[in-house]
Amino acid sequence: MKITRITVDVVSEPKEHPVRDAIQLLDRNGRTRVIVETDEGVSGVSDSHFGRVVSSPAVLAKIVTDQLAPVIIGEDPTLIRGIRKTLRELTDYQGTAGLSSYGISAIDLALWDLLGKSLGVPVWRLLGAQRTTIPAYAMVGWLELDVAGLEAVSAKAMEQGFRGVKMKVGGGPLTEDVSRIRAVRAVIGADAPLMVDANQAFGFSEALRRGRVYEELDCRWFEEPLPAGDTDGHVRLAEKLDIPIATGENRYGQEAFRDLLAGGGVGVVQPDLRRAGGLTDCLEIGLMAAGFGVPYASHGGGAHIHVLAALPNTIYVESGLLPADGRVELVDGCYPLPLEPGLSSWH
Ligand SMILES: [Mg+2]
Repeated sequence: MKITRITVDVVSEPKEHPVRDAIQLLDRNGRTRVIVETDEGVSGVSDSHFGRVVSSPAVLAKIVTDQLAPVIIGEDPTLIRGIRKTLRELTDYQGTAGLSSYGISAIDLALWDLLGKSLGVPVWRLLGAQRTTIPAYAMVGWLELDVAGLEAVSAKAMEQGFRGVKMKVGGGPLTEDVSRIRAVRAVIGADAPLMVDANQAFGFSEALRRGRVYEELDCRWFEEPLPAGDTDGHVRLAEKLDIPIATGENRYGQEAFRDLLAGGGVGVVQPDLRRAGGLTDCLEIGLMAAGFGVPYASHGGGAHIHVLAALPNTIYVESGLLPADGRVELVDGCYPLPLEPGLSSWH
């Protein structure tokens, strides 16, 4: 089998209901779809989503079509790690982190989809899965919601069968975080996991001050307390707090996780498919984390559920509320894995 053509389709439109975290307004529904075709008629597809920046989907499309695709036309699409090596070497000169990484990830995901489809099996079966359902929590506590809105959406998540809820913090003073956390806790009950996510908003001393309070409020983890690249800060913070530090969604490539894991700076590792390097790198990062005894919770869901099915250290898939049409239902708080060939997913 040979790769014969790679095409890209772009969508960039305003989001109907923009959401806010501590550092940004996510107001776009951008999407870059990559389709890898072969001489045997099988093709693979991947979607990369963008929550803001109007032009990003089209810029990624240009990188894929003009720079990455030409060097892998004619290659055997099952040599997924070989193709990754070729693309990393190509982009090294300009810096592989950033949109080059998004492009390599998009191709990686499309190749896994293609491999699953060519063999007629879902990718999680190819990876030697450990489980057939994935525990899910609902990331629903955005900062544009007032306390009544937070309470309503948290109640909705629990009604849908989620066992835990995540909420954004750091949008205002600590007293505001405390009242919002208490409101959500009152809705979900004393024993349900409640995670807080600061989206890199704090410096070290503020992260320490707030972390001690989130700890007192029995939060399950403290996500992105510091700028993502501050490995030393994460290590020092983890030494001073008992609450696990969760991070990883803004790190590029598996080497960005090595020192963080080795130093003990992360208690829950959270790679993102687009930034970390696709399914292949997320799987390898997850296994590296497993070696350090660190649990893995994906940033986002979608195709990530195939990685989560395979890793020994999986604890959660991140989800929004389930779609209103009822096509997805949780079973005992878990997503069932899709049975269609390739990288299909529920959301
Ligand atoms: Mg996050």
